[in-house]
Amino acid sequence: MTLKEKIAFCTGKDGWHTKAIKRCGLSSIKMSDGPHGLRCQPDHASMLGINHALPATCFPPAVTAGATWNRALFAREGFAIGKEAGEAGVSVVLGPGCNIKRNPLGGRNFEYLSEDPYLAGQMAAAFIQGQQQSGVASCVKHFAVNNQEYKRMNGDSQVDERTLRELYLPPFETAVKKGKVETVMCSYNKINGVHASDNKKLLTYILRDEWGFDGTVITDWGALHDRIAAFEAGCDLNMPGGSRYMERATVKAVKSGALSESAIDSSVVRILRLAQKRQSKKRKHFDREAHHQLALQIALQGAVLLKNEGVLPLVEKDTVLIGYMAKELRYQGSGSSHINPTKLVSIEKAMPQALCLACGDGQGTVSQAELAMAAEAASKKKTAVVVVGLPDSYESEGFDRSHMRLPQDHCRLVETVAAINPNTVVVLLGGSVVELPFADRVKAILYMGLPGQAGGQAAAELLTGKESPSGKLTESWPLCYEDVISKETFGQKNTEYREGIYVGYRYYDKAEKEVRYPFGHGLSYTAFAYSDLSVEGHRVRVTITNTGAVRGAEVVQLYIAPPQQGVFRPKRELKGFERVELAPGESKTLTFFLNRRSFAIWQEGWRVPAGAYTVEVGASSRDIRLRQRIDLSGESIDAPAWQAASFYQTAKGTPSRADWECLMGHKVPLTPEPQKGQYGMDSTCMEMRADAPVIEWLSKTAEAVISIALGGKKNPNDPTYRMVLTGAMDCPMRAMVINTGGKLGEPLAKLLLRLANGSGAKASNRQKKQYNVLFLHDDGTQQTIEDFLLYCE
Ligand code: BGC
Repeated sequence: MTLKEKIAFCTGKDGWHTKAIKRCGLSSIKMSDGPHGLRCQPDHASMLGINHALPATCFPPAVTAGATWNRALFAREGFAIGKEAGEAGVSVVLGPGCNIKRNPLGGRNFEYLSEDPYLAGQMAAAFIQGQQQSGVASCVKHFAVNNQEYKRMNGDSQVDERTLRELYLPPFETAVKKGKVETVMCSYNKINGVHASDNKKLLTYILRDEWGFDGTVITDWGALHDRIAAFEAGCDLNMPGGSRYMERATVKAVKSGALSESAIDSSVVRILRLAQKRQSKKRKHFDREAHHQLALQIALQGAVLLKNEGVLPLVEKDTVLIGYMAKELRYQGSGSSHINPTKLVSIEKAMPQALCLACGDGQGTVSQAELAMAAEAASKKKTAVVVVGLPDSYESEGFDRSHMRLPQDHCRLVETVAAINPNTVVVLLGGSVVELPFADRVKAILYMGLPGQAGGQAAAELLTGKESPSGKLTESWPLCYEDVISKETFGQKNTEYREGIYVGYRYYDKAEKEVRYPFGHGLSYTAFAYSDLSVEGHRVRVTITNTGAVRGAEVVQLYIAPPQQGVFRPKRELKGFERVELAPGESKTLTFFLNRRSFAIWQEGWRVPAGAYTVEVGASSRDIRLRQRIDLSGESIDAPAWQAASFYQTAKGTPSRADWECLMGHKVPLTPEPQKGQYGMDSTCMEMRADAPVIEWLSKTAEAVISIALGGKKNPNDPTYRMVLTGAMDCPMRAMVINTGGKLGEPLAKLLLRLANGSGAKASNRQKKQYNVLFLHDDGTQQTIEDFLLYCE
């Protein structure tokens, strides 16, 4: 291949394919979203056709699948999605997502596995192993420190090295080392000032040199920042394809010696290897019903019984189901993971003997009259099940939640029913943590998360006791958003990760803060006794007995409680877990293996501080049943002088900027926002539109194009419209070039920037001709570059 061909090969062919090299007999391969099902758009579909994918099994999103804590089951999901991908001719599935849930408001939390890196890594690795056995490659995403949606394409996650190593990177490390993932998707954001795509520390030194990754790095769709820096960093494939973004500049860089051709060769080889290994072969049809049953299994095991005061299981015919979501199941989130399901079972359908009053609407509104009807219906039955949750418009890729509350009317509905019926049960749907002001006034709460297409059936089987709940929370549920330690820094463009390692239970436990439900919590219809803990070297054993009357499963959690003197550490950290199924009276002995990493902290390398550690085994981070102390000789590591007076010593109060700078190890200057005159390829419409009429015009055009593509929708409550619109407004100019497949070409983008900067640029005649029919208006009329420039004048 010539230099030009090689560079071009490292950008995809179109939205979903790599390029073919016909003369070598290499076909292109197709990629499709994941993670909890196959979102395969037909080849001719536009990037905006998010919700028009081929039908596929909608497994429960990661919020629920993660709560199974069942590696083997999650591996089966990976395998099943892989088979569906194979049938659709897809070679790479874009998932799993394993970013840490740093803050409950993160818009994509429902797509992620946990606030804990060990759990997220173990589950991701299992999924990948299963999926890759089916014949397709997985693509773990979004690498790295991509924990919010606000300004996701040009924001900066500012994080100290220890936190990076102990919290944000380990899920990916496990996906690489244990899962042997074949592709990694680099995220949109910057990490400490450097975009993920250009980040050599991340993509080469850590990913390849330290962890031994030998696969392909693919950009998130539009994440490429600087092609030259990205080659140098080890970023291989620029997606989506179609544009020729920075290709000429890259040729020049090689010719001038600024970039070595071998960096390009390495990327070409890595893409070639992937494309050769994963050439798609026509595969057998997948068994839709079997996959639906698997989705049911996962929903059954991933539902978490938060509370039960003797009211569950219930008798179906003595029950009334109340709420819009009883009929219209909320079962998945919006955005690139949105699946077009093969089948859908509502709770109402799955419980035909129960009375059902589906009051309210999809936006979470319940009228006064409906409240009265609900009270009336609730008074007639022994048990009232109120089905509430987060409406679609509350959580999606593309934007974060603005608060942690349920719709106000959902709370009123629960309160109204609970005031009439003493046996009120809440079934909760939604992909992220919510405040539960009514928790003490109802008898039971079953959190289904987002349970996928079989979710209604799963809820029915759990409510009626056909199955006993066994899911456990993968994140802490604070009492209210006020209690979240990252509340002040979350959702900034440049986000300071001031809380450091104190995320989730690492924070609540250290700060001794009350929570609604702790990490790892989840009840069952039976009870389990823990006995005979033994620690011999790195082997830990414990016996679990089902002491209740029904069959059930327990997720047994192993935490290490490190010494609290010396370098600051959390109270405990998860280092092992096993799910065990037991018949009444049955016992099993579980074995866990610890290793050096189970005890280590990052201090310019993994080091184990000497001291007294406790091995804790329990049913949640706040329900430790057995403990055993062990003394490790380890290393003597002194706490830094600044630690004693800082937030990090106790996790009480809030971390100040000065504390955080100590943690970072240097002063962190505030990054000023670029002003008119300073806009560049990383600037977005949103950032420029106020003082650049040309960008205002471009924004309006983009709005029109999006509305047409989505069938005329302009409804801010429609999460897809909101996501795509936010995506366009927050899209840097470079990503506009890439995401339009080069329709908005690089020279035009640069021209627009010059205009936005007020430098009075003029389009050449060639440019005018080139961009002749460029934009569409709401009414379908076309707009040309001349109109564009006229508008600017
Ligand atoms: C998302 C990715 C997704 C990709 C392709 C991006 O906007 O962040 O998760 O895989 O689009 O749809």
